[in-house]
This record gives sequence, structure tokens and C-alpha cells, in this order.
Amino acid sequence: MKALYLTWNAISIISLVVFVFFAIKKKTRLSPIVATLCSLAALCLISYTAQFYTTNKRVALAFCAIYYICDLCVLSVIYLFVISIAEISKSAKNITAPVWVFFVLSILDFIGFISNIWTENVIKLSPVFFADGSFDYWKRSFGWPMYLDMTLQIVMCALILLALLKRTFKLPSFYRGNFITLMIFFLIVIILNNSNYFYTFKFEMSITLYVFLAAYAFQISFWGLNSSLLNTMLSLVSENISYAVICFASRGKCFYLNREARAIFGFGHMGVAAAEAYRDKLLAQYPEKMFDFLTLTQSLQVNSETRTYECEYKIVKDSKDRNVVSYLKLADTTEEIKRLEEEKYKTERDALTGLYNRSAFFKKATEILRVNKSADFLLIATDIMDFKIVNNLFGEEAGNEVLKLQAALLSSSLNGPNSIFGRLTADKFAALVPKNSFKISAIEQNNATLQQAVTKYNYKLQNYTGIYEISDKFENPKFMYDKAAMTIENIRGNLENTIAFYDSSIMDKQIHDKRVVSEFDEALSNGEFVMYLQPQINAADEKILGAEALVRWISPERGIIPPIEFIPVLEKSGLIHKLDQYMWEEAAKKLAEWKAANNDMYISINISAKDFYYCDVYNFLTGLVEKYKIQPQKLNIEITETVLMQDISAHRQVIQKLNDYGFTIEMDDFGSGYSSLNTLKNLEMNTLKIDMGFLREANFSQKIKDIISSIISMSKTLGMTVITEGVETEDQVKFLKNANCDIFQGYFFSKPVSVSDFEKKYCEGAAK
Ligand code: C2E
Ligand code: CA
Ligand code: CA
Repeated sequence: MKALYLTWNAISIISLVVFVFFAIKKKTRLSPIVATLCSLAALCLISYTAQFYTTNKRVALAFCAIYYICDLCVLSVIYLFVISIAEISKSAKNITAPVWVFFVLSILDFIGFISNIWTENVIKLSPVFFADGSFDYWKRSFGWPMYLDMTLQIVMCALILLALLKRTFKLPSFYRGNFITLMIFFLIVIILNNSNYFYTFKFEMSITLYVFLAAYAFQISFWGLNSSLLNTMLSLVSENISYAVICFASRGKCFYLNREARAIFGFGHMGVAAAEAYRDKLLAQYPEKMFDFLTLTQSLQVNSETRTYECEYKIVKDSKDRNVVSYLKLADTTEEIKRLEEEKYKTERDALTGLYNRSAFFKKATEILRVNKSADFLLIATDIMDFKIVNNLFGEEAGNEVLKLQAALLSSSLNGPNSIFGRLTADKFAALVPKNSFKISAIEQNNATLQQAVTKYNYKLQNYTGIYEISDKFENPKFMYDKAAMTIENIRGNLENTIAFYDSSIMDKQIHDKRVVSEFDEALSNGEFVMYLQPQINAADEKILGAEALVRWISPERGIIPPIEFIPVLEKSGLIHKLDQYMWEEAAKKLAEWKAANNDMYISINISAKDFYYCDVYNFLTGLVEKYKIQPQKLNIEITETVLMQDISAHRQVIQKLNDYGFTIEMDDFGSGYSSLNTLKNLEMNTLKIDMGFLREANFSQKIKDIISSIISMSKTLGMTVITEGVETEDQVKFLKNANCDIFQGYFFSKPVSVSDFEKKYCEGAAK
């Protein structure tokens, strides 16, 4: 029996030493505590066991002292261990008063045990012998100082139990198991241990239980959660995750559905059967080899509602590549998809009309054209004339109603498969329509409806439509739209014709215009713009009086470019004043030369309506007069009626000042536009130039002759000089002379010619 006990102790000691070794190796927060605990437990066992091997009483007493000291220390370390894993005591480092008291008492206790080696007043040892007289063991009996050790032991045990209890109740239930086990273990140990005080056993069993206690401490410290805890945790996790999980055993039987999965497939047997049926249906669609891992999007009917799931099916294998289980994971993406769709709708649509916005329209157009390779398509652009006026006159709300109406008309009248509609900017809409769903009558009807949209003030909305027939489907739809929009520019302002089809000349013109604008500055500084002069002839003696300065662009690459090809472009792009200022200066320079040569001819210059917006015409022209010391009377200014129509009061003041300064003001192209005798009445004009259009008109009929005659006689009453331009025939000259016209300008006398040609012909005598 003794031998058995001693062997058992030896094994326990070895185990404890092994634990110490592993605890140190683990290097965790708990390592030092567990290592100390196991070392002390080992020391307890060693000192207790050693007593069986010594007959020397003093040595036995020394072992006894070590045993009791270590025993109390083991308890202290267990306490430390419990509060460390429980993390109950935040003030482990703040040694409080009771701890100090306990510490001092423990020291006293230890001194007692050590002095006991010589005094034997705490523990008495008396040898017990076998029947054959050989030594068996040392029997203990306690003196009164042993009560101190007992008290300290009980206090320490109580503290440990309290800490364990606190931990047990604070933690979620599935963690409790660990602590309850630890507590039961501990209770057995202390009951056994403390019963020593009342009945001294030969074989002290409580210390051998330290091995188990240490082993358990080791396990919960370093291997953490035990497997049942892990199971509990995993099943709780899978119960609570947001997607459905269904697990199948290797043979394919469903053994687990989590809460989400039960919500989809149902509870109990029904749910299991439904999940298996679903899995079978899913896998039936795919060849066997793909089964290891499969993801796809699926729609399922759940509670009579269609929901979308991201499905994942996976076979889990063991290390030997055998199928162990398989699972299906269904993540409900219905809301996410809805949200994405809403977001997409918002980013693709125009908030007011619900049509595609600019970028989405072009993107969709590209897609449709790529997919429908064989069908013919039209790209349609619409634009409401003076839409700003609608907003100003009727308010923004009315403006919005018009835009909504436009959107509705367009999208309903041209709707069909592969038709798309977009609002690109404010009042500009676009449509991509297959040619066979297009009807021009629908557009006409739309425009008529829109005209009636705002009825106040009898305002008629003018909606323009440009249509481009797509020839190259791979062209960027933005360019297609540009072409349709360009077509509108060609008919803008036209009240009769509001629908136009694109043809290539529109594009050519656009390209030409762009080229003019981009090349202008360089051409001007290179001197490519040249002043030509066209003589003006006195009707009385057919002698020359002066000339009109007309610009020519002499391009080294393109030859002589007539003004009609670039003046309107420069006017549109706000560049005309640069050219005009150059021409005016050329004319002034020439006049200064002529003045020096005693040549008293005048030069008429042209002023564009835009010049008044971009420069100070008055200052510039009077500046030239002063710079070149010329007579303002020799620099005639030709202003067309349109200038005067546009901003009468502001421009009239400038013209008046120019007139006062001494310039001769001529009204150019009289009768070409909205000729208004009012302008004549309100303005100090010196000369009236009858538009050459009259002479071109219907073979120069009697009616035209009458009109011209009356214009001339009216001018005379107003005290104005009359010039007729575009005079080409002798008949015209005769008629005009009879009608009392003062001056002629036209091909009959001369085309506009270069200054040198002009001077050769008309200044021979006068030139130096
Ligand atoms: P405009 O001021 O009415 O100039 C008269 C135009 O009639 C000139 O055309 C001239 O060549 C043309 N013409 C003169 N006699 C006849 C004729 O007997 N038969 C025909 N068929 N045509 C005749 P051009 O030089 O091509 O100029 C066209 C227009 O360009 C001018 O019309 C004027 O409005 C503008 N323009 C010309 N030079 C300038 C300039 O330096 N500045 C500005 N702002 N405009 C200019
Ligand atoms: Ca002119
Ligand atoms: Ca003219």
C-alpha cells in the first residue's frame, strides 16, 4: 500500500514537472502563474513523500515545514490564478490592508513552521513502526499555533471560492461549466486537505489531487475552451448569423438548419425535406465535378414573396480528401439589390422627367447600337426656342411643366422596342429610335401640342427637332447627337420649318466654322486679311467719289476666301471686332496717305452689330482720326439696320456721337431686313444704301422700280444722300439716274479690287 502510494506520488511529481516545462514554453499571460502553481504543488508532494524516507526526526520536521509552507503558498497561487483568468480583481497590484495583514500572518506562520524544526510546538512527529519493527511513517499531532495556519488556509480557500462563484455567475451560461468543474475540484481538495487538521492520515491524498487540479488549470489556461464549449459557441454563432446555413451529412441527409434557413424552408421534418429537395434541384443543374464549390444567384418564394439569394454550396473534406459534410449557405441579397437598383435609377435618371440623364443616355445608346447591328436607327435632338423666356414669363414651375410635357410627348410618341429617351440639359432632349418606329407626323403632333402648352399672353412655344440618321453604329453617340443638334442650328428662328434632317453639308459647315475660329488669330497677325476697295461712282458725272472697304482673307493654303464665309462665324464667336478694328485702321492709314497726296476720296468702312458689344467704337474711331490726322468726313461708317434694331437706345447714342464728331453715317442694306422708316426718323443718318436685293428682284420689274423710286424720293425729303449697290447693268444705271440716285456701287463699274489695283486705276493722277 505504501509502495503504491509512493509510486503514485512519484508519477504525480514527474507530471507536475512536465506541466512546469510546458507552461513556461507557452509564454502566455498565465504561464508564470501556472508554472509557479505546478512547481509549488510538486514541492509539496516531494516534501511530503520525502518524510517516508527519513528516520531522522529533525529532517522529517524540516520536510514537514516545507510541506506546510508550500501548501499555503499553493492556495495563494490558486487564488491568483482564479482572479487572473476571471479578471475580477483590477487592483491585483494594489496591495490593500487586508492583504498586508494576511501576508504578515503568513510570514509568522512560516516562522512558526521553521522554528518547529527545533521546538516541535506546532507539529509533533512521532514515528510509527511496522510490526517487524521497521520504520513506517511519521504520525503528526498539532499544537495550538497550528490554528493560525488553519485560519489562513480557510481564509484563502474562502477567497478562492468567492472568486470562483463571482466568475461563475458573471459569465454567460455556456462558459460556466469550466468554473463549476474547477470549483467542485477545488472543494474536494480543500475538504480533504483541511480534514488533515482533525484527523491525520497516513497517506495525505489531497496533495495528489493537486496534480489533477493543476492539469485542469493547465487545460483551461492553454487549450482554452473545451470541445463542448466550442460546439455550443459554434452552434450559437451559426444560429445567429444573418444568412441561412443548411448542413448535410456525407450521405446527403440534412442534419442542421439554422434559424434563417428554417425561416426559408420551414421547421422540423418539412424544413429538412424542403432543404434536401432544394439542394437536389440545385445540383441537378450542374455536372458532378462542379459540386465541390458552387456559387450562384437564385430567386426563392418565401412567405409568398420573391427574394433573391446568393447561394453557396460547398463540400467539406477531411485531410484524406473524403467528403465529410456539405453545406449550403444562402445570403439574402434582396434588399441590397433593391438598394443598388434604386441608386442606379437615381444616378441614371433625370429627377424632373424620369428620362435618362446625359451620361446614361449615351451609355444606353452605345449598348443598344452594339446589340442591334442589323436595325437602322435615328438619333433625334429637340430644343425649345427661348426656353429661358418661358421661365421668366411664366415662372419656373410652368417651365418644369413644359419640360415634363416634352418628356412625356417624346417618350410616348416614339416609344417602341429599343427606343430610349434622355434629357441632356435644361430644354434639350434626345431620343434614339429605330427607324421603323419613327413617324414624322408624331413629331409634328408633339410640336403642335407644345405650342399650346402655355396659353397665357398668346405665347407660342417653338420646339425644334433635328434628326440624324445613323450610318456608323460605332460612332460615339455624343457625335451623333451633335449632328442632330447642329441640324437645329440651321433652322433655329424659322417659324414654318421646325423639323430638319441632318445632311453632310451641315457637318462640313461646322468643320469650316471651327477652322475659321481656330485659324483666325494667326491669320490676322500674319496679314492674311487684306482690304479690298470697291469704287463708289457719282451719278452726275460718273466720276469716282470714294470706295467701300471690303475684307478678303487671302489664305496661303485656301486662296481668296470671301467675307460671307467667315464674317458670320467671327460675329458668332465674338471675334469680329478684332478684324474690324484692323480694317478700320487700314482704311485710316490709306486715307492719311491719300490726304498727303491730295487725293480727297473717302473710304466707307463696315461696322458689325457685335462691335458695339466688344469694343468702344466711338473711342477707337476718333482715336484713329487723331492718330492719322485725317478728316472724319472722309471715313464713312456703314451700319446695317440690324445693329439699330438690336439695342436702339444704347447704340443710337454712340451713332449720334459719331455723327456729331463729323463722320458720315450710312445706313447699309436698307430694305433687306425689317426695314423700318422709324429708324430713319429717329436717327441722324447722312446716307442711305439701298440693298442690292432690290435690283436682283424678279427681273427688275416695274413694281421694284416704283419702290426704289419712292425710297429715293423719301430719302431726299429727309435730306439724305442715296447710294445704290449691286449695280450691274447699263439699264440699271439709266433707271437709277432718272430716279435721282446720287451714287452707284457695283460690278458695272468695278468689282472690289486690291488697293494697288484700285490706286492704279483711280489715283494715277493723284498718287505721288
Ligand atoms: P456689304 O457691306 O453689303 O458689301 C457689299 C457686298 O456686295 C460686297 O460683297 C461686294 O463685293 C458685293 N457687290 C458689290 N457690287 C456688286 C454687284 O454688282 N453684284 C454683286 N453680286 N455683288 C456686288 P463682299 O465683299 O463679299 O462682302 C459681303 C459682306 O461682308 C458685306 O456686305 C459686309 O456685310 C461684309 N463685310 C465685308 N467686309 C467687311 C468688314 O471689313 N467688316 C465687316 N464687319 N463686314 C464686312
Ligand atoms: Ca457695306
Ligand atoms: Ca450693303
